[in-house]
Amino acid sequence: MSFKESYGSKEELDFLKRIKLEFKEAVQFIDTEIGTVERGVVDLLEGPFRQLIVRFPVEMDNSTIKIFTGYRVQHSRLYEPTKGGIRYAPDVDLNIVTALAFDMTLKCRVVDVPFGGSKGGVRCDPKKMSQRELDRLTRRYAYEIFPAIGPDADVPAPDIGTGEREMGIIYDTYKMFNPKSPHAEAVVTGKPVNLGGSHGRTEATALGGAYVLEEAVKRRHIEGLDSLKDATVVVQGFGNAGFYIAKILSEDYGCSIVGICDSKGGIYNQEGLDVNDVLDFKQNVSKEKSVIGYNGLQPLTMEQLLTSPCDILVPAAKETQIIGSIAKNIEAKVILELANGPTTNYADKILIDKNIYVLPDILANSGGVTVSYFEWLQNKAGECWELSQVNERLHKKMVTAYQNVTKISEDRELHMRKAAFVFAISNAIEVIKNRGIFP
Ligand code: GLU
Repeated sequence: MSFKESYGSKEELDFLKRIKLEFKEAVQFIDTEIGTVERGVVDLLEGPFRQLIVRFPVEMDNSTIKIFTGYRVQHSRLYEPTKGGIRYAPDVDLNIVTALAFDMTLKCRVVDVPFGGSKGGVRCDPKKMSQRELDRLTRRYAYEIFPAIGPDADVPAPDIGTGEREMGIIYDTYKMFNPKSPHAEAVVTGKPVNLGGSHGRTEATALGGAYVLEEAVKRRHIEGLDSLKDATVVVQGFGNAGFYIAKILSEDYGCSIVGICDSKGGIYNQEGLDVNDVLDFKQNVSKEKSVIGYNGLQPLTMEQLLTSPCDILVPAAKETQIIGSIAKNIEAKVILELANGPTTNYADKILIDKNIYVLPDILANSGGVTVSYFEWLQNKAGECWELSQVNERLHKKMVTAYQNVTKISEDRELHMRKAAFVFAISNAIEVIKNRGIFP
């Protein structure tokens, strides 16, 4: 199989180049079909406006000192604060963090949350570190990015490899340096609820995705899928987003989860899998902390899992997973992108040709940052909303975003990803116009 057939162009393996390509195509469309776009505004929007690289030491459990590299990239200041998660993974670098920050700007515009985009990360392998080492790393990283973050400047949140625990430590570190700051907890979202975290933040990315999927099904936008009841689902990735989407779709919508995979491989059972039981196996039974080996099911490769028969495919792992050679063999009717940037442009074209409906990442996974916004609002106001109130507001935001993107898609005859880009970028251009250029 040629490189082209597997991946498309080399550029497509680079998430930053890919998102810039999509951005430029959308700008071109706006320029010719909607209204002239000032060149300088395009350059400004391409961002980022700030990139911080930090190198710092962490004392390991065996008393040696290890040096880590961390990043915080702020993509656009359409609104302040800027907003985006922190990733701990071995492949974190400036390029990927910059792409993810760009992605944050776009998703905030799609879902109309008044934040600019940002992202952070540390190049490390959390699976190979002890809890105490990770805690020390988090505290030191928080200290190093201190000049960039703040409740009204830049607000981190969880991403791959981080969660409530890390957010609690970042809050504590910030608070120690700002003991008199009244709303210091707004420096970070995705905190534990007893430190000012919002009810519903943990499952928000998945629930937001489920709401968008539900709307698409209700409006009969997915060919051959008129109901979620008994629809079959394959989920790639069994971290926060992957676990919760599997749980929500099976428990609340009556779907049958037939395939699940994590970074070590996948399992498939056409009779359906018990999601909570699979999680229990991964966490408490499996030596490798994997779904592999569950109930004696045959282990599958990632590619086999992504191309297994199902109605709904949910990439919920990381970027650049659905490449051309995989897209060709995907059997799903709809793809719900809970990961950031899981599909290459070339693969996307194949999916369009195959008439597979794609709910793009900047729409499908924007529930996470939406509830982060709710958490930030609660912190600023000193409030704590009920879970039902959070979910009701999330539902409204997601349905409105879906309707806005669908309208562009229908009016302009664009597939959903292009429509989401056109919507987000047109909206961002308006914000820049209204703010003007300083000084
Ligand atoms: N890391 C998440 C994302 O990619 C969350 C961002 C946030 O809540 O600020 O959307």
